[in-house]
Amino acid sequence: MPQHFVCLTFDHDNASPMIAREMTTPTMISRGDFGMVATERLLALLGKHSIASTWFIPGHTIETYPASVASVHAAGHEIGHHGWTHRVPASLGREEEERELARGDEAVKSLTGRKARGYRSPAWDLSPHSIELLLKHGFVYDSSLMGHDYLPYQARDGDVVTLHEPIRYGADTALVEMPISWSLDDYPVFEYMRTPSVLQAGLMNADLVGANWFADFAFMAEHYDWGVLTYTFHPHVIGRGHRLIMLDGLIGKLAGAGARFVTMEQAVDEYRARYPNGRSERGR
Ligand SMILES: [Zn+2]
Repeated sequence: MPQHFVCLTFDHDNASPMIAREMTTPTMISRGDFGMVATERLLALLGKHSIASTWFIPGHTIETYPASVASVHAAGHEIGHHGWTHRVPASLGREEEERELARGDEAVKSLTGRKARGYRSPAWDLSPHSIELLLKHGFVYDSSLMGHDYLPYQARDGDVVTLHEPIRYGADTALVEMPISWSLDDYPVFEYMRTPSVLQAGLMNADLVGANWFADFAFMAEHYDWGVLTYTFHPHVIGRGHRLIMLDGLIGKLAGAGARFVTMEQAVDEYRARYPNGRSERGR
């Protein structure tokens, strides 16, 4: 019997990405304030559909908005690690990256009473040290890589990549990768943002985006007996009225097409039961 899982994941990072880019004017910070409004709406929507989801929350957000993040945990959603600041691991160096992991760990523990099982890197760019550090710090899974769209796999460590030689792949590790994609993320399609170097247009029609997102599930259902599709949302982005109406409809359509909504840690358990020896995306 086919099994098609869907993970609704929320990167509840509020103002922290702006602060990491040194954009700290009142209007930039207020974008994060809207994340609190949106979180209430999302918890109501998820509750209406009886869906447990996964929220990756930077320590900065946990410590700045304690009541809001407590309401997410109290509603039964999984809390994952999303850095303490929202700086990209690839920009930090090994020591600073490890400090971020440790400080974020403490923040998550203060919220939930236990360490996060999962990690998602700010802005999805792991450093060459990340996999080793995540294993050292006891993480079970990562969700920052793009090697598949429907099938989890074992994260590799130690790839050797140079300009003039073919890639020499490193070994698979015990860390489970729950892959993601910008094409399944609300941020580039919806959020209008201008930085000194980048203009992100965003503001796309929500129904058209929702049609893309449903079609990725439909393809999985047609071509795979088993799989996990992961959507990534940001409360302050997806929480606008017209987008919530679309998300409500999308959830209904997915459920009607046989989707089973699970948290990421539940999806990891399902993956391990189906692939006890792990799956590899190494050198296909
Ligand atoms: Zn983020």
